[in-house]
Amino acid sequence: MDSGKKYEFRKLKNSSDKILICPKCFELLFRDDFEHFSCCPYCDSPIEISDEMEDYLLKPIVDNWISNQNQSFPGTFHPES
Ligand SMILES: [Zn+2]
Repeated sequence: MDSGKKYEFRKLKNSSDKILICPKCFELLFRDDFEHFSCCPYCDSPIEISDEMEDYLLKPIVDNWISNQNQSFPGTFHPES
């Protein structure tokens, strides 16, 4: 069984975030560029939503959620024994 295409990411400076490199035209794609279209805006190459891609797309939501949780409930994610 083919596990699908492997996408390459590049890490952003000064950030824990990363950016997708289009496997076809090698343009750098920000999350917003393709999350609503599921394809590369430069060459129309379809972006396959793999587990890896899902993690990538959900990362800002998860990060945001965690920081909101920490604001609402300080210490929740830093349990002290
Ligand atoms: Zn492309």
